[in-house]
Amino acid sequence: MESHQEIAGILLRYHRFLIVTHVMPDGDAIGSMSGLGLGLQKKGRQVIMTCPGGVPENLQFIPGSDQVVAPEEVPSGNYDVVVVLDSSDLGRIEGVYEKIPPGMPIINIDHHATNKGYGTYNYVDSASAATGEQVYRILIAMDVRVDPSIAICLFTAIATDTGFFRFSNTTPTTLRIGARLVERGADPSGISEQVYEARSLESLKMLGRVLDTLQLDKSGKIAWMEVYGEWMSELSLDEGQTEGFVNYARMVKGVEVALIFRESADGRIRIGMRSKGDVDVGALAETLGGGGHARAAGCSLDSQSISEAKELVFGKVYEIMGLAGD
Ligand code: 5GP
Ligand code: MN
Repeated sequence: MESHQEIAGILLRYHRFLIVTHVMPDGDAIGSMSGLGLGLQKKGRQVIMTCPGGVPENLQFIPGSDQVVAPEEVPSGNYDVVVVLDSSDLGRIEGVYEKIPPGMPIINIDHHATNKGYGTYNYVDSASAATGEQVYRILIAMDVRVDPSIAICLFTAIATDTGFFRFSNTTPTTLRIGARLVERGADPSGISEQVYEARSLESLKMLGRVLDTLQLDKSGKIAWMEVYGEWMSELSLDEGQTEGFVNYARMVKGVEVALIFRESADGRIRIGMRSKGDVDVGALAETLGGGGHARAAGCSLDSQSISEAKELVFGKVYEIMGLAGD
């Protein structure tokens, strides 16, 4: 495992970078990628940025995100090193990973406790609230001046992964870095508006339908919601536009585990998980082939239906919580 200072030194040995982040990218994914990309460019480096699925509309304000190209557009042989951000395993960058030439060094920078350590070099720090926090440390160690563009990138990364500095991963360091980024030109209220208050009417209509599916198990400790593929096509929505819905299930008093089951466009069932108690949903998701953090995680299952997926997931949740199933 490398420290952020070591990673800064290793990065500076290279000149042509491919930076990659995970599928269905969130604010931390795009913010940390753009922040690192812009920082390396300030150091005169060549940078290609990519992620499976592209940049969601509400994150397109992030400076540098306009440089992100689709995996198909990544020119082969135009980079000497790959930096993978915010991804606990290489399945998260499916579509890009297959194109990386064998023997190419990989630098893995991530804050998921479930990270598999797949890099040639690994800077994995689960005490960091966001990958953006790690990128901030690396840029400082590389002697990159944090300008307003980089400040916006990294503030967005950290703010979105901490629910604007209120989730349990928020530390004094997170707040200090946040304050520094505001001093350097990030505007918290403007960023909040761009990220959270630019939803389509359809996505809010969908929230209405999905909230209608909200149910509690008999213990009252588990809440879940369902999203059907048919609804998604009716309202012409993609999965990114249901981001954050699962948080509503966690709001119910007494709920310890919140789940959302989604019929995904790829035919699988995608499950989002949140915890408000002692249950480590990251560890739970890992047993199901996914990953994440103790209080926010996810996975995809090959189940034929939401009810089949529910059976599997609820079995695991009941077991972990020591509850009797139905
Ligand atoms: P969200 O529910 O917001 O999409 O994801 C919550 C957290 O779980 C994020 O940190 C995300 O990276 C992680 N996560 C979600 N789905 C998966 C998955 O299928 N595999 C892995 N490894 N992590 C996931
Ligand atoms: Mn993250």
